Amino acid sequence: SLISSDRVRAVVGLGVSGISCARFLSQENIDFYIVDSRNEPPGLEEAKSFCPHDRIFLGNLDILLTLPVTELYVSPGIPLSHPVLKQLSDKGVLMRGDIDLFCDYANAPIVAITGSNAKSTVTTLVADMLNVSGYNAVAGGNLGATALDLLSTSVDYYVLELSSFQLETTHSLSAAVATVLNVSEDHMDRYDSLYDYQKVKQRIYRRCRAAVCNKQDILTVPLLPDNTPVNAFTIGAPDLREFGLLPDGKEQWLCYGVERLINTSSIKLKGKHNYANILAALAILKMLDVPFKKDVITSYLSEFEGLPHRCQTVKQVKGAVYINDSKGTNVGATIAALDGFGSAKPNIHLILGGDGKGADFSPLVKPVSQYVKNVYLFGADAGTLEFILGAEVTCHRHENLDSIIMAVSSYAQVGDIVLFSPACASLDMYSNYKERGEHFIRLVRSL
Ligand code: ADP
Repeated sequence: SLISSDRVRAVVGLGVSGISCARFLSQENIDFYIVDSRNEPPGLEEAKSFCPHDRIFLGNLDILLTLPVTELYVSPGIPLSHPVLKQLSDKGVLMRGDIDLFCDYANAPIVAITGSNAKSTVTTLVADMLNVSGYNAVAGGNLGATALDLLSTSVDYYVLELSSFQLETTHSLSAAVATVLNVSEDHMDRYDSLYDYQKVKQRIYRRCRAAVCNKQDILTVPLLPDNTPVNAFTIGAPDLREFGLLPDGKEQWLCYGVERLINTSSIKLKGKHNYANILAALAILKMLDVPFKKDVITSYLSEFEGLPHRCQTVKQVKGAVYINDSKGTNVGATIAALDGFGSAKPNIHLILGGDGKGADFSPLVKPVSQYVKNVYLFGADAGTLEFILGAEVTCHRHENLDSIIMAVSSYAQVGDIVLFSPACASLDMYSNYKERGEHFIRLVRSL
């Protein structure tokens, strides 16, 4: 019971991960409180089905200061700087998260993946490649099923996508392989500096048995004991025992050192950033000591189209290709899309806008002036974007996406690309990036 145990737990915040913690604790017959600052949090009905009503406290977090709690399972949506959490943490109360609870019970090696961009893509690639190689791998975390919902005795590998918010409350992870894929500005409304954000991302490397980092992104390089093996990937030429890209005449090969693994002509995913993602996945498999099965991996890569809303081709209209990259919710993702699709003669119509989360948009200036014909702006940060890009390229401001698609369809010419990669979160106008991407797809399909 709550009184006799020396550990007293509370789930703080009933989001997707909070409800997964509550459900799991109740399945394990462990008592807990639930506290949420909202009066009607999303998972409340389900929570009431397994948590006694007198242990649920709604409206604010203050009650935590009077409960005898020793450990909290804090939702990624609540910053640890919240005054109540700060007071409790100063008193020695543990600030754990769903990943810690998962690690307490997981009995198979964990691959842990973070980064500002490409997490979902690489998580999917790693799990799929393990599966086609004959293992039972499951993917989840910040993508699809929560980590706790993956727990099962028949799993060979857990492949987890972890957000920086999840990593803030993660203490018990000891990954078989951990990686930070890239670090560029994101969530600057929650972190004081890029350095603070990077420090949180680097927590994924703590106690890992092997690490994979991005040779072209110094912020991903781990500080680890000398005897922890580290492998690197690069979209340049690889050194010995590195994964990289080597040209051969008109062709390009994904390579391990000088060993040629896969010809890029047999890869369905488009864009250089996606070659980096595949190389990262191959490096992870290598660090897991999983043998490289050329035939099954090549045949998988010749079919894998990528996830929806990530540089997804929607339709060709009057000779122009429309691409939905609604998951491009920060500047780094949009730059990768521009570098991936841009060509010597600017032919991109770029649609930007939404909630910039306090980001510095100026890194967009160079690729936009290099690759973009016209920019179309909407949403909360349209004005800021116009201020920064207006001198480089023609900007059209619109009330909404509907009117942008009308306009762009009259400007776009044969051979042009219409790229919807907003560089912003969607929350000012949509409930999430999926809804925003589906809106774009609907509008384009009706052209
Ligand atoms: P995450 O889970 O980190 O958000 P996703 O795989 O969902 O990553 O991709 C998010 C966005 O980042 C998409 O717009 C995608 O096109 C872009 N992206 C994919 N790979 C990379 C990369 N290697 N570097 C930068 N951006 C990328």
